[in-house]
Amino acid sequence: MTHMNAIIVSVGDELVLGQTVDTNSAWLSAELAAVGCGVSEHMTVADDQIAIERAVRRAVGECDVLLISGGLGPTEDDLTRQALAAVMGVELLENAGWIAELEQFFSARGRPMPTANRIQAMIPRGATMIFNACGTASGIEAEMEGSGFRVQGSGTERTEYQTTSLSPEPRTPNPSCHLFVMPGVPKEMKVMFARDVLPKLRTAGGGGVILSRTLHTFGLGESAVAERLGTLMRRGQNPSVGTTVANGVVSLRVNARFGSADEARRELEQTAGQCRAALGELVYGEDGQTLSEIVAALLKRDAATLTVTTAESCTGGLLAKMLTDIPGSSAYFHRGWITYSNQAKHELLGVPAELIAQHGAVSEPVVRAMADGARERAGADYALSISGIAGPDGGTPEKPVGTTWVGLAKPNGIAARRFVFPGDREFIRDRAAKMALTLLRFELLGQRTPF
Ligand code: AMP
Ligand code: MG
Repeated sequence: MTHMNAIIVSVGDELVLGQTVDTNSAWLSAELAAVGCGVSEHMTVADDQIAIERAVRRAVGECDVLLISGGLGPTEDDLTRQALAAVMGVELLENAGWIAELEQFFSARGRPMPTANRIQAMIPRGATMIFNACGTASGIEAEMEGSGFRVQGSGTERTEYQTTSLSPEPRTPNPSCHLFVMPGVPKEMKVMFARDVLPKLRTAGGGGVILSRTLHTFGLGESAVAERLGTLMRRGQNPSVGTTVANGVVSLRVNARFGSADEARRELEQTAGQCRAALGELVYGEDGQTLSEIVAALLKRDAATLTVTTAESCTGGLLAKMLTDIPGSSAYFHRGWITYSNQAKHELLGVPAELIAQHGAVSEPVVRAMADGARERAGADYALSISGIAGPDGGTPEKPVGTTWVGLAKPNGIAARRFVFPGDREFIRDRAAKMALTLLRFELLGQRTPF
C-alpha cells in the first residue's frame, strides 16, 4: 500500500521572526496522522511573494498533499493568493459567490465592505474556492502536477499549464499534488480543515492511519536509552521508534503507519512492548503521564496508602510541589520541610550540628540525617531528602556545582546517593527533585535502579 505524504507550509513574517509560534503545522500534522497521511516537511516562509512561490514550486513536486496556511488577509502583506496564481501561471479571478458572502458579512455588521477585502474572494483560474465559516478569507483548493498545473473542478476540460522550476535538478516529480490553502488564524484554519479538507483526505488516504505512543524514562541519557533499544531504533522500520528529550525526560516515540486502525494498534502494541522489555522499569509512564502521577499511584496502590514526607534544601520545596501536583495528594503527603540553612536542618530535623560542621551540608551523613529526622517527625512511611549545590556559586573541586545528595528513609533503613547534575540552577534543582521521585519509585517497585 502506498501512503500519502504531505508537506505543510506556514506563511507569515511573524512566524519567521519568532514572534508567533507556528502552531498550525503541529496541529495539522496530528490531524493528518489520524488519516494515515505522513508529513515529510514543515516549511515556514515570510510574507514575501517570491519566497512563497519558491516554497510551493518545490513542495508540489515532493508531496501528494500540500497544506498552506496564512497570507490570505486583506492587506498588502498577504500574498499567498498572488504567489499561488504565479506558480500556476494563471490570473486571479474574483469569485462572485464569495463576494456576495463578504457583502453579507459586512452588511450584517452595519458596515460597508472595504475595497481591500475584495482580494479575499480572488481565486486562481482553475482552482476551487473553499468556504470560510468563521472569517472573511476564502480558502483555495487546486490540483497541481509535479511540473505543472491541472485544472480541477467541473471535470471535463483539463488544461495543462507549464510552470518553470527554480530548481535546476528537480527531484522525482510527484505525479500529482492536491493543494489546500487555508487562513492563518488558527480557529479559521481548523474549522476550514475539518469541514472541507479532512473529508477529502480521508477518502484519498484509503483508510490508512498512523497511531503513536510515547514512553517516558528518567535517569539515563538519550544515548544510553538508545543503546538499550538496539535495532528497535533502526531507521526505515514500521513501526518506527525515535527518542526525544525534554527536561531530563527521555521519551520514545513509537509511530505505526498501517492500512487499518486495527493493524496499526496491534503493531504499535507489539513494538511498544518490545521497547518496554528492552528498558524494563526505566519506563515510568506513557503519553500524558507524569512522574508525579506515577509515584502517587504507587503510593496509593495498596488498600492502606503509604505516606511520604520531604526534607529539602537546594530544591526549596520543588519536590513537595511535584508530590502535591496531583489532586488527592493529601492521602500520601501530609507535610514537608524546607531546611535551607544549617540551623534549620538542625532545629527542625535534628541534624547534629557537628555532622554538618564535619562533613558539610551537602554530604551523605547530613542527607541521611535529614531523611531520618523528617520521617520520624512526620510519622511517614518514607522520607526523601535533598541537599545539593545548585550554583552558580559554592562549588569546590571536591564538590562541584551540581553535586547533590538524595536521601531516602524507609521502614527498614536509610539509603543515600550522590549525583552531579550538569547544568544551571534551574536544571540542577529540577533534576534533583525528579531523581528523588525516581528513587522513591524504584523503592516502591521493589527494584534496583538501572543507573
Ligand atoms: P494571516 O491569515 O496570515 O493573516 O494570519 C492571521 C494571524 O493568524 C496571524 O497574525 C497570526 O497571529 C496567526 N497565525 C498565522 N499563521 C499561524 C501559524 N502557522 N500558527 C499560529 N498562528 C498563526
Ligand atoms: Mg499573515
